[in-house]
Amino acid sequence: MALTHIVLLGPPGAGKGTQAKQIIEKLGVVHLSTGDILRDEVGRETELGTTAKGFMDRGELVPDQLIIDMIRGRIEAASSGFLLDGFPRTTAQAEALSQFATIDVVLNITLHRDEVVRRLTGRRVCRSCGKIYNLTFNLKEGQTACEACGGELYQRDDDKTDVIENRYDVYETSTAPLIEYYTKQNVLRTLDGSLGSERVFAEIIDILTA
Ligand code: ADP
Ligand code: ADP
Ligand code: ZN
Repeated sequence: MALTHIVLLGPPGAGKGTQAKQIIEKLGVVHLSTGDILRDEVGRETELGTTAKGFMDRGELVPDQLIIDMIRGRIEAASSGFLLDGFPRTTAQAEALSQFATIDVVLNITLHRDEVVRRLTGRRVCRSCGKIYNLTFNLKEGQTACEACGGELYQRDDDKTDVIENRYDVYETSTAPLIEYYTKQNVLRTLDGSLGSERVFAEIIDILTA
C-alpha cells in the first residue's frame, strides 16, 4: 500500500514543487501547494490575496490562521490522499493539521543556503500550467515559452536576492523546527535535495511505495 498522506518539507528552492508534480502523476494524490493557492488568490485580487501579498512580497509567512482556514477544507476533501507542499510551515500549523488529518510520511528535502539563492534567482515558472524551469538547469538559451503548453515563462516577485535571503532566514527560524517535531512522531524521511531531480524522485518513490 502506497503512503497517501504526504508532507513535503524543506527550504525554498529545495525542489518541492518539481518533485510534487511528478509524485502526483505517479500516485494520483491531490497536490495542495499553499504557495500556488495564495498566488492564485493574489492574481484574482480576493480579500485573502490582498492581505497575503504584502507578506509574500517581503518573504514573510502569511499568518497561521489565514493559512489553516484556507487549506483545511481542501485536505478534508482529498479522499484519495494528498501531497502537502509548503504546509505546514510552523509548529502552530502542524498542530492544527494534526487535529483534522493524520500524516503518513514527511519528506524532508535539504539544500544549503548558497544553492537555494543560486536556484531561486534562476527559477522561471509557466504562467499557464505552472511548470517549473531553471535558467542553468533546464532552460535553453533564449527560451521564453513553456515547452509543455506554450505559456509565458515569468519570474516570481519573491525570487529576488534580498527576498530569497529573508525567506531562507524565515525557514530556519519558523519551519526547520518541524524536522524535530516530525522526527519525534517517527514519520520523517530526509533526502539530499542537491542531487539531480530524477535521483531525488526515485528515492521518494522508493519511500512511498516500499
Ligand atoms: P517556495 O516554494 O519557494 O518555498 P512557496 O510558493 O511555498 O515558496 O511560498 C511563497 C510564499 O507564500 C511564502 O514566502 C509565504 O509568504 C507564503 N506561504 C506559502 N505557504 C505558507 C504557509 N504554509 N504559511 C505561511 N505562509 C505561506
Ligand atoms: P521549491 O518548490 O522547493 O521552492 P522548486 O521545485 O520550485 O522548489 O525548484 C526551485 C528551482 O530549482 C527551480 O528553478 C527548479 O527548476 C530547480 N530545481 C529543482 N530541483 C532541482 C534539482 N534536483 N537540481 C537542480 N535544480 C533543481
Ligand atoms: Zn506551461
